[in-house]
Amino acid sequence: MNNKIDIEFDKQHIWHPYTSMLAPIPAYPVASATGVKIRLEDGTELIDGMSSWWSVVHGYNHEKLNNALIEQTKSMSHVMFGGLTHQPAVTLCKKLIDITPIGLEHVFLADSGSVAVEVAMKMAIQCQLGRGFENRNKFIALTFGYHGDTFGAMSVCDPVNSMHSLYSDLMPKHFFIDAPNIKPNEPFDQNSLKQLKTTLENHSGQIAALILEPIVQGAGGMRFYHPEFLRQAKHLCQQHGVLLIADEIATGFGRTGKLFACEHAEITPDIMCLGKAITGGYMTLAATLCTEPVAKDISRCEAGVIMHGPTFMGNPLACAVANASLDLLAENNWQQQVANIEQQLTDGLAPCSKFESVADVRVFGAIGVVEMNNPVNVSEVQKAFIKRGVWVRPFGKNVYIMPPFVISQQELKQLIDAFIEVLPDF
Ligand code: PMP
Repeated sequence: MNNKIDIEFDKQHIWHPYTSMLAPIPAYPVASATGVKIRLEDGTELIDGMSSWWSVVHGYNHEKLNNALIEQTKSMSHVMFGGLTHQPAVTLCKKLIDITPIGLEHVFLADSGSVAVEVAMKMAIQCQLGRGFENRNKFIALTFGYHGDTFGAMSVCDPVNSMHSLYSDLMPKHFFIDAPNIKPNEPFDQNSLKQLKTTLENHSGQIAALILEPIVQGAGGMRFYHPEFLRQAKHLCQQHGVLLIADEIATGFGRTGKLFACEHAEITPDIMCLGKAITGGYMTLAATLCTEPVAKDISRCEAGVIMHGPTFMGNPLACAVANASLDLLAENNWQQQVANIEQQLTDGLAPCSKFESVADVRVFGAIGVVEMNNPVNVSEVQKAFIKRGVWVRPFGKNVYIMPPFVISQQELKQLIDAFIEVLPDF
């Protein structure tokens, strides 16, 4: 039997994220992945600089994660969550309540990040209804924000900069304020809160919640901002009866140097979304947590229940592997892993700032970003990276590294060296 991946079929019939059926860019056939290495069908080994979009923090094909899945299949792979429950879900929700900022007490298990955001938005609107506010159904969101690809989530992504401007006429109109421009290590400027203050003062009667990615804005621009903005934003929202939704889908589980990015500002949001690294990148799973007062107010609104319930809610396989991944995170001393990566990225990427093609170099936690002056040609730059044995997928002007936490110094050096060699030509 010929086991070769039919790449022509793939090209002609299968959508990949954000690709065209008229001019598809190549999708490289992967035979296997182990540790931090992705092995292509032709035998090429690539050091993974992407953690498969923030998710694979412990590396691929991890024995403990594999075993968690195998063991779980022996009792049940799935049962509906309507009217039934099981140990993997209960254990996971206990753990999540335990490790997230104090006060988050109720968990909704969703099946992807975008769905977790939809649920968070519904929670906020239902909570306001439960408090007797019929018109508080709008959101405040930040420019450069990114929250997912479903309609509710799209409506709070940056309306210009995001990939969703095509649908702008179809989406509800929310309030957008400028994302803070001050990096975490710069002196804070109170002026960055002015727009939020004015919007709250003028429109809070219409607003259910402020939604943001805490400290690190991911797919909308790979930007880092000052924790003081978040701290004061939480306070301002509270004064105006507006909830704060922290979308930690990308930032959660250690990536920024804290277990959750909200910890940089020492705040508890009213609602928090988690996803991506929750299963160590093994399966799709997400969670939306909220505080007790929010949960009670949701349950007081006319519907009396949270209006959401996906087929694969609380999937036991996903919960079991998430439990094993959270155990590994603690065992592996993630703080040290992330601190080491941060230091090496800071030192190693610094020379990029001298390249004529480069606008900015920034590092925060285990995330290193080189912002170019112009958008890069993704397929060309990827070819150059693959030649050097690394897997990096830029978008727009941003070329970035966010490796699995288990990457060795030598492997990370190979990734950084590839940046230094490739980027002057783009
Ligand atoms: N929120 C943020 C901050 C994200 O980075 C993403 C994914 N890029 C999402 C939400 C959506 O998650 P998913 O792709 O799992 O639907």
